[in-house]
Amino acid sequence: MIAPKPGIMEIDPYVGGKSSLPGRVEAVKLSSNENPFGASQHAMDAYRRTSGCLHRYPSSDHHALRTAIGEVHGLDPDRIMCGAGSDELISLLCNAYAGPGDEVLHTEHGFLMYRISAFAAGATPVAARERDRVTDVDALLAACSDRTRLVFIANPNNPTGTMIGDEELLRLADGIPRHAMLVLDGAYAEYTDGFDGGAALAHSHGCVFMTRTFSKLYGLGGLRVGWGYGQPEVIDVLNRTKGPFNLGRGQLAAAEAAVRDREFARKCVDENARMREWLADALASEGVPSDRSHANFILARFSDADEASACDAWLNEAGLIVRRVGSYGLPECLRITVGDEPSCRRVAEAVRAFKAARQ
Ligand SMILES: *Cc1c(COP(=O)(O)O)cnc(C)c1O
Repeated sequence: MIAPKPGIMEIDPYVGGKSSLPGRVEAVKLSSNENPFGASQHAMDAYRRTSGCLHRYPSSDHHALRTAIGEVHGLDPDRIMCGAGSDELISLLCNAYAGPGDEVLHTEHGFLMYRISAFAAGATPVAARERDRVTDVDALLAACSDRTRLVFIANPNNPTGTMIGDEELLRLADGIPRHAMLVLDGAYAEYTDGFDGGAALAHSHGCVFMTRTFSKLYGLGGLRVGWGYGQPEVIDVLNRTKGPFNLGRGQLAAAEAAVRDREFARKCVDENARMREWLADALASEGVPSDRSHANFILARFSDADEASACDAWLNEAGLIVRRVGSYGLPECLRITVGDEPSCRRVAEAVRAFKAARQ
């Protein structure tokens, strides 16, 4: 049998959050950081309107979507690149810039796709330790070598929910080797008011690239749309390697309508912030702490892996699906998406009952 390229068999396939429980129809899914309010009505309408034109190839330069993103974020559309989820951008970056003998750096509890895409490109992923579940710039800089090509951090990070501030980001961007590029994954950037996800840094620093997604705040995870922002030279490189029609008409139209619907986005950010603090407080008062989250989930910490596993099973019994994060090196934690108010109340009540039953 023909063998794949070196590295491919090192990949542990990505396993998404569970979406159903056997024998239960109405389980609440809080395992994939999806928007509990769904997508904007305008996005759904725009998606439907594309159905009359499915025989026509879509735009390959994504001009209308890039223009909309540029207007909303105050960015130059020529420096924007759209992909099938930010996963595609992560993959394009690894394939274009890293290969055999090269290293792709990520943080200890970083998003698993960095590792998977590095292996798929034939490169070697390298993990830098975090400090109490927070990105450690010193550790990242110390882990850089002659072979480092890409340095990925998610800010805020998944699954920790923690983030580092502008000064630390600048120190990281200024400190990485000249032959490397820093990729700032801003999948959750919208949830932090006033944070640009690293856009200004990606504008001023040739060695910085930012990725964003429509899968979280915009509630379009089922469609697969993401985008990136960086130097024209990098955009040019990625455009040469992307599939010409990597986004379909429905994806482009829905994402454009979604990013223009500021009212819906605002409402989702506000409601997330309100329920996130509520849920974190409710769990903390039951003896389940979490780091302050800047995203749309919290990372609930239990006393050990056994307790986390038992609570996961208990939540399942209560019809609630959350995410085990042992594959991220955090077996004592459960990642819980901030749902709507009734879902958050159900989680808090179930954790309370779980703790009471173990007294
Ligand atoms: C969810 C997530 C993404 C988004 O991936 P898509 O391919 O855009 O759905 C990217 N990075 C991180 C850290 C995430 O948690």
